[in-house]
Amino acid sequence: MSKALSNRINSLPVSQTLAMAAKARELKKQGKDIISLSLGEPDFNTPDFIKDAAIEAINQNYNSYTPVDGYVELKEAICTKFKRDNNLDYKPNQIVVSTGAKQSIANIAQVLLNPGDEVLLPAPYWVSYSAIATLCEAKFIEIPSSIDADFKITPEQLEAAITPKTKMVFFNSPNNPSGSIYSEKEYRALAKILENHPQIFILSDEIYEHINYGDKPFSFAAIESMYDRTITVNGLAKAFAMTGWRIGYIGAPDWIAKACTKMQGQITSGANCIAQRAAITAVSATPDKVQYMVDEFKSRRDIVLNLLGKIDGFKLNIPEGAFYVFPDISAFFGKTIRNKDIKNASDFSMLLLEEANVATVTGEAFGAPNCIRMSYAASELQLREAVKRIKEVLS
Ligand code: GLU
Repeated sequence: MSKALSNRINSLPVSQTLAMAAKARELKKQGKDIISLSLGEPDFNTPDFIKDAAIEAINQNYNSYTPVDGYVELKEAICTKFKRDNNLDYKPNQIVVSTGAKQSIANIAQVLLNPGDEVLLPAPYWVSYSAIATLCEAKFIEIPSSIDADFKITPEQLEAAITPKTKMVFFNSPNNPSGSIYSEKEYRALAKILENHPQIFILSDEIYEHINYGDKPFSFAAIESMYDRTITVNGLAKAFAMTGWRIGYIGAPDWIAKACTKMQGQITSGANCIAQRAAITAVSATPDKVQYMVDEFKSRRDIVLNLLGKIDGFKLNIPEGAFYVFPDISAFFGKTIRNKDIKNASDFSMLLLEEANVATVTGEAFGAPNCIRMSYAASELQLREAVKRIKEVLS
């Protein structure tokens, strides 16, 4: 029957993050003692003040269809948040609330990309960017970076990748999977290049905004010359430990917001009513309300960096945000470990799963074939145990 499937779905790769998480779950079910560092998901509970807002919404009988672009109170609260945290001026008609930031990104791609358009992806990039571009029959062009450049691209690289067919570039800071953060100065230098190419739209994915360990991330749309062609994507999943609630949103030029609403109106309608009511409380909260999680992530990051740094062959950068480490493990390529030939990052990730019972994600999925991604959104105990097992397998 699979022959009956469309070319569209046949050409779509499976999400490697979700596939690895599913595999880890399956192995656990079979009784294996798996430590899953695969999925990017806070291991905290949603804060009580947000849960209370959801319970109140249920009791107040919020059960009907929601406006396709989101409750107006939520859109207003998002505008206030954008001004407060990002110095961005958006009006409610520029906001679209979606079922997760992933849907926001898919909407934008669907409404802006035509077959054959080129989308620039500074690598490493989140797995679904390339897949979403492919779904639009656009061509994604990787701009490689390396751990020595802190996984950031230069203005010269950006310039060299642009062609008359370039329609979009995706930025993501703090970055999943590298944790790197572009400074205002670095972003302004990239913007200088884009100023000469007015046909290019910028998607700025800021979902990890609040999870940073140094300077506050800078929003690309805050560059005056970029505001009119930047779509700012954000959501509640990461900062508020609300992955399953599925609320994402954009701030965009109003004509793009309108197009996303039209798209969403035919595919999903408005996002979940209870989650949206709770989201009003979440986005209205100042970032200090969730600082305890960020502090904990920072302490785990330091532990993991310290422990992994003691394993020969692991080359690390210091991630300034998000909750991943992204070591370059290419030193193991060409070796045979526990009778397994390690030809690439996928082999290495498989080795860790099968021999150490530790689930990670291959860097190949993120356009960085020398690396693997390990999430440290797990308990300190699990992290210590995971690194201990990895060390044993490699020694
Ligand atoms: N964004 C998270 C990750 O990268 C969740 C899984 C996904 O949607 O890819 O692990």
